[in-house]
Amino acid sequence: MTELDEAPGVGGFGKWSMHGVPHKGWTCVGVEDLGAPAAVCEMCERQDIRYVHAMQHPDFPEILHCGCICAGHMEQDVERARRREALMKNAARRRAGWPDRKAWRRSRQGNLVISERGFHVTIFERDGRWHGLIQRPSTGYKRFSKRTYASERGAQLASFDAILFLEESTNVAWTMSIRRSPVQD
Ligand SMILES: [Zn+2]
Repeated sequence: MTELDEAPGVGGFGKWSMHGVPHKGWTCVGVEDLGAPAAVCEMCERQDIRYVHAMQHPDFPEILHCGCICAGHMEQDVERARRREALMKNAARRRAGWPDRKAWRRSRQGNLVISERGFHVTIFERDGRWHGLIQRPSTGYKRFSKRTYASERGAQLASFDAILFLEESTNVAWTMSIRRSPVQD
């Protein structure tokens, strides 16, 4: 059962019943896809969450990492929280399919390359580790991956994250970053 299937029975659990924790007036300052339900909502302290909404309040010292339903109630806009959740899920779907995109091809040097949405990605092997190079011909952007990866697929997934980050950092309509835990390779 996902959190969205659950009735918004947030009242009473965890910090919802704790003195000094505001119920309203929170703002989402970031989102993160953990890749699996690897955390528990810090507001209700009950819901397992994969998609994390980082919530901030001027009268509370910490940022709370919450599930969609709690976040929606905290910011008094459940629809907005649902839209963020949908964006994260959409990105996760695209990421899962990214290494298998038909547009990947082998260069003459044996590297995997793809040109997508204005980016040119090269995945190459050196000393048994996989690296990535991302270029954006329209802007002259060129960057090698900082990390190296144990598998070609791991480097491909990392290139998706890098492109997503680059797209978001240039998209003023969507100013929050979707961070991810480091690629499991
Ligand atoms: Zn919660």
